[in-house]
Amino acid sequence: MNISLNVPEQVSEILNKFEKAGHEIYIVGGLVRDVLLKKDLYDWDFSTNAVPDEILKLFGDEAFYDNKYGTVGVKNPDGRSYEITTFRTEHGYSDSRHPDKVTWGKTLEEDLKRRDFTVNSLALKRLGDQSFEVIDLHGGLEDLKNKLIRAVGNPEERFEEDALRMMRAVRLAAQLQFSIEETTLKAIKAKASQIQHIAWERIRDELLKIMASDYPADGYLVLRNCGLGAVILPEVEQAFGVEQKSPGRHHTYDVGTHSVESLRNCQSPNPITRLATLIHDAGKVRTQKIFPDGRITFYNHEMESAKIARTIADRLRFSNEQKDLLVRLVRWHQFTVNEFQTDAAVRRFIVNVGKDNIDEMLALRTADRLGSGAKMTSWRTEEFKKRITLVQQQPFSIPDLKIDGHDVIRVKKVSPGPVVGKCLQMVFEEVVEKKLINEREVLLARLEEIDGD
Ligand code: ATP
Ligand code: MG
Repeated sequence: MNISLNVPEQVSEILNKFEKAGHEIYIVGGLVRDVLLKKDLYDWDFSTNAVPDEILKLFGDEAFYDNKYGTVGVKNPDGRSYEITTFRTEHGYSDSRHPDKVTWGKTLEEDLKRRDFTVNSLALKRLGDQSFEVIDLHGGLEDLKNKLIRAVGNPEERFEEDALRMMRAVRLAAQLQFSIEETTLKAIKAKASQIQHIAWERIRDELLKIMASDYPADGYLVLRNCGLGAVILPEVEQAFGVEQKSPGRHHTYDVGTHSVESLRNCQSPNPITRLATLIHDAGKVRTQKIFPDGRITFYNHEMESAKIARTIADRLRFSNEQKDLLVRLVRWHQFTVNEFQTDAAVRRFIVNVGKDNIDEMLALRTADRLGSGAKMTSWRTEEFKKRITLVQQQPFSIPDLKIDGHDVIRVKKVSPGPVVGKCLQMVFEEVVEKKLINEREVLLARLEEIDGD
């Protein structure tokens, strides 16, 4: 099949260079898939029969050699780089992750055979200006049409070679809204436990991509259904079947199902917030109490959930920042929104959650409500949001005032000294007592009036 494709200037130059030098060169990988799906195009990957030294010669200073992957990178203006890799073949994986030997392949066929899925094994060969031939040796076009993720070759063998491919299958399915083809899915079920040989960093990257996709809840359910979920997030797995319906109360789902339904309703695009939504009730497994009258309680489950969040963040090798967000959202998700709370309590909430995380916290809370079948929001929540804004307009401490010591020195014509602090303290107290609002003009006017001596 031939297609017409308008490639960026630099891509065209890369193709020219190789063609002039008499090398074979193809556009390969996820980009070809995305071209055919008419998606936005990001990373341009190339495959060639030229070996790295020959590639480097073609580019001089523009290129750099990434030894770890045997890839030559060519810088491009938007900061990404074009990756050019010599055809490869791989032999034997004794540990489900590292090929024992990677050697340069001679042909495109060898290179496409080692790729993970049929939809990722397509290649583009330039025929003319904007005309390309789609090379499809593994039925990728048919699978694209049928929206199927299918392993290239024998799926069990391919997952034995590299167990991460199982996560990639689920991730691609969630991102593209594809299904995993039957024998490929069966193979994942058979090999799921092999995922334990994969570095957690790589698992994390795929899991967060699943969370960031348009279908994070379905993605998680596929992980669970193939047995990967039990290895990666056993704490969520254990929440299935944990009942929470007390007589007369609204909860209808068990904890696991509620967690997934919450995730489905999470409106934050942030993958960490989404993961927090999935695990926020995991502590209920350990805190469930069933009374003789059928009542079920989960006292302090959010503290148990926060412990679990820490464990999960460490397991997935989260950065400190990612861990902080995950743990805080889970720890404080039970916040009260009733209208009788004092300003001090609302402030404590803001400090606990972190000023910058309030929107994420509210997104989790809304998801939690929707995930138990409640309405989008409640008037109490809406009132609480207003309170948060109002309280934040109030200063927490003297440095939050819209005036400072320099203003006092200027307005009151005093020299630096204790009197400056005294004036600020007076103004601060009046603001806390709501006699003044924290606006610069207002505070400056008030400074004029007060007696600093
Ligand atoms: P995206 O970049 O959108 O995340 P992609 O399919 O381009 O998806 P990359 O990780 O960029 O994924 O990999 C580029 C190509 O390399 C893939 O399309 C696939 O052909 C091949 N590939 C990547 N990882 C593997 C793997 N673990 N096993 C076999 N082939 C792989
Ligand atoms: Mg890519």
